[in-house]
Amino acid sequence: MTMESPLNTALAQLRGTIDKLGLSENDWQTLSTPRRVLQVAVPLRRDNGDVEMYDGFRVQYSTTRGPSKGGVRYHPDVDLNETISLAMLMTWKCALTNLPYGGAKGGIAIDPKTLSMQENERLTRRYTSEILPIIGPERDIPAPDVGTDERNMAWMMDTYSVNAGFSVPGVVTGKPIVLGGSLGRTSATGDGVAIATREALRARGIDIKGATVAIQGFGKVGYWAAIALEKMGMKVVAVSDVNGGVTGFSSVSALWDYYLSHKSLNMPGCDALTNEELLHLDVDVLIPAALADSITAATAPGVKAKIVVEGANGPTSPEGDAILQEKGVLVVPDILANSGGVIVSYFEWVQDKQNYFWTADEVRENLSSIIMKALRDVESMASNKGVTWRDSALMIGVGRVAEAHHLRGLYP
Ligand code: NAD
Repeated sequence: MTMESPLNTALAQLRGTIDKLGLSENDWQTLSTPRRVLQVAVPLRRDNGDVEMYDGFRVQYSTTRGPSKGGVRYHPDVDLNETISLAMLMTWKCALTNLPYGGAKGGIAIDPKTLSMQENERLTRRYTSEILPIIGPERDIPAPDVGTDERNMAWMMDTYSVNAGFSVPGVVTGKPIVLGGSLGRTSATGDGVAIATREALRARGIDIKGATVAIQGFGKVGYWAAIALEKMGMKVVAVSDVNGGVTGFSSVSALWDYYLSHKSLNMPGCDALTNEELLHLDVDVLIPAALADSITAATAPGVKAKIVVEGANGPTSPEGDAILQEKGVLVVPDILANSGGVIVSYFEWVQDKQNYFWTADEVRENLSSIIMKALRDVESMASNKGVTWRDSALMIGVGRVAEAHHLRGLYP
């Protein structure tokens, strides 16, 4: 198991990328430091009247290429270190996909499963009001992440709007459609993961029709990726959630229907397997789409997949990554593979600014064209420079932010 903190891992990746790009020590100084870090205390009044305090964060890692952008996570493990590292990843992701954004991340160290709907609403509104001075459609635009969804975004949008005195839909993305959300946002990250999987199979010369896929995590990313992969003709053979996985289901939608009604993946006729067994299945593609650090020094040696597509953020530790590289596994890195979410969030923000809304086909076509461009850029730099897809993606993303810094200059 890795003992590295997510921030140390992200900083080590940045150091390596700066060296590969031949950037200066001054670049390291500016790129390795978050621009604005806000820690807030979030008081929560429970339904029984008890008051509890929780730590909340919002990190604006970069605003050099535009307003900062990134999700809000509710999870007990949220801390400042993880939030900075995720905000840094968002910065390289937005630059890699050429969106006019910097990078941000936020969250509260709480288990949302312990919250009633009313408690969740009070917590979300209070968190929003604590970070209100630094967010806004031109400053920093939050979105859902682990443990939050469109309901939380509706409360955030309302809290901000009530304080502004008028409706400000562009302050968050991932909103319900009736409040200015975008068609296609819910499935966007999974759709992008599926496109990245298809292109990685093509790059490895593996037939897309019938290619086998195992997915760890059956949430917003894992489920929609599974649906899109099936539509493309691939065979999703196993999925898992926090309690373990299953194999042997007839289709993803049949399993999903069962999952919704029984809150369990153990559908009659399926075989159960552990999360570790899922990682070691003999499949063409493995998609970690749960949390960080699932492919580590301990689990990577058993991976048999030829391709790993990182649906989650940071699912592969540096040691795990080195082992996959030695085995010749093609790894499509998180900042590329899961960029579909922020790409369609960008479309939502554009639609809110213009008060003009696109059709689902327009969203799909534009998503495909942006992520395909990023995939082609990464593949071609990887082959020209003889580096991995992860190195290539970071070189493009970090290189663009460094160039923007150089052109803007240092004030004063
Ligand atoms: P989610 O909360 O909707 O789903 C997470 C899934 O992972 C659930 O099925 C959960 O049961 C499972 N899980 C949790 N812990 C696990 C464990 N230890 N082992 C196996 N499974 C486990 O979250 P999500 O939005 O799907 O996000 C998943 C990952 O994708 C996160 O790393 C997130 O940062 C990243 N991501 C999400 C989006 C997005 O648009 N939602 C965009 C980019 C990246």
